[in-house]
Amino acid sequence: MTAPWPQIDALAASVRNRERSAEETVRTALERSSAHEDLGIFLHVDEARALDAARAVDRRALEGHDLPLAGVPIAVKDNLCTREVPTTCGSRILENFIPPYDATAIARLQDAGAVVVGKTNLDEFAMGSSNENSAFGSVKNPWDTTRAPGGSSGGSAAAVAAGIVPVALGSDTGGSIRQPAAFCGTVGLKPTYGRVSRYGLVAFGSSLDQIGPLTNRVGDAARVLTIIAGGDPRDATCSNDPVPDVTEALEGGVEGLRIGLPKEYLGEGIEPSVREAVSDAAERLAAGGAQVREVSLPHTSYAIPAYYVVATCEASSNLARFDGIHYGRRAVASDLATTYERSRTEGLGAEVRRRILLGTFALSAGHYDAYYDRAMRVRTLIRRDFELAFESVDALISPAGPTPAFRLGEKTQDPLEMYLADILTVAANLAGVPGLVVPEKLVEFEGAALPVGVQLMGPMWSEATLLRIGHHLERTRGDLPAPPIGGRS
Ligand code: GLN
Repeated sequence: MTAPWPQIDALAASVRNRERSAEETVRTALERSSAHEDLGIFLHVDEARALDAARAVDRRALEGHDLPLAGVPIAVKDNLCTREVPTTCGSRILENFIPPYDATAIARLQDAGAVVVGKTNLDEFAMGSSNENSAFGSVKNPWDTTRAPGGSSGGSAAAVAAGIVPVALGSDTGGSIRQPAAFCGTVGLKPTYGRVSRYGLVAFGSSLDQIGPLTNRVGDAARVLTIIAGGDPRDATCSNDPVPDVTEALEGGVEGLRIGLPKEYLGEGIEPSVREAVSDAAERLAAGGAQVREVSLPHTSYAIPAYYVVATCEASSNLARFDGIHYGRRAVASDLATTYERSRTEGLGAEVRRRILLGTFALSAGHYDAYYDRAMRVRTLIRRDFELAFESVDALISPAGPTPAFRLGEKTQDPLEMYLADILTVAANLAGVPGLVVPEKLVEFEGAALPVGVQLMGPMWSEATLLRIGHHLERTRGDLPAPPIGGRS
């Protein structure tokens, strides 16, 4: 069994004090990544580059630089640009793309002393809920290798769950951090829209996308957020407001907080063991002095249709650049139109093509009002549902997905069924509010022992409150076992 990673604050402190070197911590992560190669987590690992970066951190630590993440090995989803390191988005069309710059979130983590050990597998262009849409094979869930790790940040969630790295970055357009976190038994935070710069994140749905951390512990997610959040002149939608130190209030408890249980998130179709996990967590919040009450988000049933119109419309426009001319692998043909057609047909997978077609159709003259415009109106109603709920409660607690991890192959024949896996996560993106998933317990599901997480959502900019509630849940929960394959034990 692999020894668990310490809390990242402690890990970084031990590197700064020279109890261990960044080179050692990074070597450990690299060894674990090769030991778990069969899980299909990484699309790219460059050992020499990671070790060089680690040695540079050791030198900076010696020179006395302020390095809050000194020597913390991290993995990053392969739709985040890394300078001089391939960034494929899980797509054939970007197989040979090597960005000349780092995403802001990655640059900030590296400045703080973190070292990128590899790029993680994902559904192509982050479109999917199981990782099975990757052009490079799907990731296996470390808890049961016949099951999906969730998606689209499945590689990042599995990397943390298998104990390879203590921190991974993912992106969340409709649940892609939170659902894999729930499936793999890790913490996952989707920050408020505008909290973290999207510069260097390959755009899927620009009005929905956010970058956030997947970690073992709530405190680690809080630490990472303090480093990646905050204004960036390169992303006009990123807020310049000062970022509060969300690590400070973690221990504050939940006394006096008002917590809502949205009734639409606990109804039909939710696996009983998942519902039970939420009520167990809610009970511990009540025992900690919170007032827990039922609330309603009445437009919830429209969230999936609205999301799959808005997200596909934005995707069809964002992905227009991957045509073999501006970006991406070019198929050789004798005229321009055939070059576009062949490059896109050969370079993009079935789900990505489906979404481009859906989005293009919904935005076309004559259909715009019926689809895009209507979806945007519904989006406003969904945002208002949250605003209204947050007049009477400080946060919401719900499941993150209707079931624990489903089997690989189980939903691949039916895209609609796959889309329904996102039913509990997409509304937060439509409304722009933050969501935090915290592992709650292991349950028996279809003969397997699998983790179940709970989701906390709050008003915009309420990350500090969510992390405080999450920390309380984690502290009162007791330790969860590590996945049977390596992991943290
Ligand atoms: N599963 C959702 C989708 O396929 C969300 C993806 C994401 O958050 N990137 O669109």
